[in-house]
Amino acid sequence: MNRQRVPLIAGNWKMHHGGASGVDLATQVARLAAELRGVEVVVAPPFSALAAVAHACAEVGEQLQRPPIGVSAQNLYPDDKGAFTGEVSAPMLVEAGCTWVIVGHSERRQIFGEGDEFVAKKVKAALSHRLHPIACVGETLEERTAGKTLEVVLRQVRAVLDGVESAQGAAVIAYEPVWAIGTGKVATPKDAQEVHAAIRGVLAERDPKLSQKTRILYGGSVKGDNAKDLLSQADIDGALVGGASLDAKQFGAILRPAFELLSP
Ligand code: PEP
Repeated sequence: MNRQRVPLIAGNWKMHHGGASGVDLATQVARLAAELRGVEVVVAPPFSALAAVAHACAEVGEQLQRPPIGVSAQNLYPDDKGAFTGEVSAPMLVEAGCTWVIVGHSERRQIFGEGDEFVAKKVKAALSHRLHPIACVGETLEERTAGKTLEVVLRQVRAVLDGVESAQGAAVIAYEPVWAIGTGKVATPKDAQEVHAAIRGVLAERDPKLSQKTRILYGGSVKGDNAKDLLSQADIDGALVGGASLDAKQFGAILRPAFELLSP
């Protein structure tokens, strides 16, 4: 972590907690986050729970007189409206109370066939509606074994940046090695740092100031027992958490080390 950048911990709930249990979980997380000043916290429920979760987070914020935690969608469609059955647009997410959106998650890339160009369009659509995109990049096990990690990841990062032209300051990049997602296998802090530093290098080619401002999260089997070592790395500015974000206690065990690393 680098104190110039506010640590960000985001929980991707995937297809879990789509109703009342999501409101309950978000309320618990928002209460916890209020105690951990200096750490930015975001939850990403399924579409069906977005508005109710955003409402609950705003209520907790008001009660505790703290800014509400962020609410993120897990995906969007780049057009604002139209005949795109089953899709949800950036303005609709804003109306539901979102300030964030995850794009290019490896499950979207692998299961739904989303490519770099489409992901770049989504990043652009998010930024044009003042949603902060969390753009996910990462290599498969095959690509890592073939020594192609940096080639693949940096290609994905460049594609995202090509799509956003100027307003990139609001975007976050999440490095999520595909082989580490939901598998219990986590990148070593050293390996993750190496990729994060290379991503920051690509950002610096575009704009040195932007590279210092942009937060780069690590994702892939982050848990309470590995969070501190990962977050201690110079270019790891937070985490995108899947499985361990589905339970307030487990998520709290990741938020706490982020908070403790901020103390002198
Ligand atoms: C994710 O889906 O973004 C993720 C990182 O999942 P997990 O933490 O379960 O590996």
